[in-house]
Amino acid sequence: MSRCLSDCGIDHVVLERGEVAHSWRTERWDSLRLLTPNWQSRLPGFSYQGGDPDGYRALPEVIDFIASYAKAIAAPVRSHTTVLSVRQADAGYQVRTDRGEWRCQTVVLASGACNIADVPRIAENVPRAIAQLTAQQYRNPDRLADGGVLVVGASSSGTQIAHEVHKSGRPVTLAVGEHIRVPRVYRGKDLEWWMDAAGVLDERYDAVEDIARARRVPSFQLAGTPDRSTLDLNALTATGVKLVGRLAGLTDDGKAQFAGSLRNMCALSDLKMGRLLDLIDDWARANDLDGKVEPPHRPAPTQVEALPPLGMDFAKAGIKTIIWAIGYRADHSWVDMPVFDRKGIIRHDGGVVCSPGLYVMGLQFLRRRKSALIDGAGDDARELSTHLAAYLDHRLAG
Ligand SMILES: Cc1cc2nc3c(=O)[nH]c(=O)nc-3n(C[C@H](O)[C@H](O)[C@H](O)COP(=O)(O)OP(=O)(O)OC[C@H]3O[C@@H](n4cnc5c(N)ncnc54)[C@H](O)[C@@H]3O)c2cc1C
Repeated sequence: MSRCLSDCGIDHVVLERGEVAHSWRTERWDSLRLLTPNWQSRLPGFSYQGGDPDGYRALPEVIDFIASYAKAIAAPVRSHTTVLSVRQADAGYQVRTDRGEWRCQTVVLASGACNIADVPRIAENVPRAIAQLTAQQYRNPDRLADGGVLVVGASSSGTQIAHEVHKSGRPVTLAVGEHIRVPRVYRGKDLEWWMDAAGVLDERYDAVEDIARARRVPSFQLAGTPDRSTLDLNALTATGVKLVGRLAGLTDDGKAQFAGSLRNMCALSDLKMGRLLDLIDDWARANDLDGKVEPPHRPAPTQVEALPPLGMDFAKAGIKTIIWAIGYRADHSWVDMPVFDRKGIIRHDGGVVCSPGLYVMGLQFLRRRKSALIDGAGDDARELSTHLAAYLDHRLAG
């Protein structure tokens, strides 16, 4: 957005509570690699120039990439400046920070979609002897107690953490709710390549049937590994991770209750994967790729034991740690304006908030399916900065 505002000649500052790329520096586990290939992190005027376009950036490379971009575009960043409140004032906004106050005509909320890792209320019933942490707090297995680990949530964070913790020698149980299974590589090409080429990631927010639902869909079960292997539930069970259903409850005496829906969840996920691969095959045929790429195939269905356990006594199972990986949400608690719905989610139309001159970016499916990806920021910023510039022109004319 800073780059696009500069392109429009709009004077602005970027307020950042930490350093540039703060969330990548402080809220991710050590071994994380982007699940999007290098070529896919395209920012306005900045694309991957290295020799490994199909690789996946490791965490230090992500930080370096974002910091280099801020430098290259000379973004006017005020680091170590936390925004404490944004309020309507006069004909614009008052932005209060821990380093003074700003007055401005427009504000873009670009504070991220993943500020808070969700923890369910039932976590209160976890016995004290068991350590609890979120995917945001998890760093590496060495920081965990010896003994069994229950990972709750089987989307991209949960499956990657379950895999790494299991490799460290700790027995891992993975509680599986709704998830989206996809192969890392399909017909010889990265799944992200197919989704990008077939326009799936460009699908617009005003063209989907149920945008509220689309914005709640969990992240793809994808991992960026140097060997480009698929990390799905079959891969995890093959290494010895135990699958159970969604964690539905915890009794006062420390017993977990799992939903009986594991088989259904997996069948549904296989079905959705099949639909996505059908769409890709149709697109490949229509674009004359059949014969030029590998032939279509379908991964084997997810293997689930006949009667997955519906309960677990933590003490008997030797569980010493629970890792919550059930999703993240944005924190806009410092936006002091009536712009939220009943669930506390900011109300907006493709990033244009219902308060003139106020915009939001980086949220799930904000304007396109890719909006919450690094690669999605550019198109959204271009459109929202055009809207913002027109708003300022209109005010000037008025
Ligand atoms: C575990 C995980 C893995 C991911 N993997 C990928 C991936 O492989 N590929 C991909 O494209 N995307 C991935 N994402 C999504 C990724 O977070 C976004 O693509 C990208 O970081 C969005 O950038 P952003 O600037 O909108 O948000 P953020 O990167 O979260 O940046 C928001 C910034 O706002 C600052 N901030 C927040 N509140 C305040 C405040 N009150 N005052 C001042 N500053 C504030 C934060 O410190 C932060 O630096 C992943 C997300 C997570 C959680």
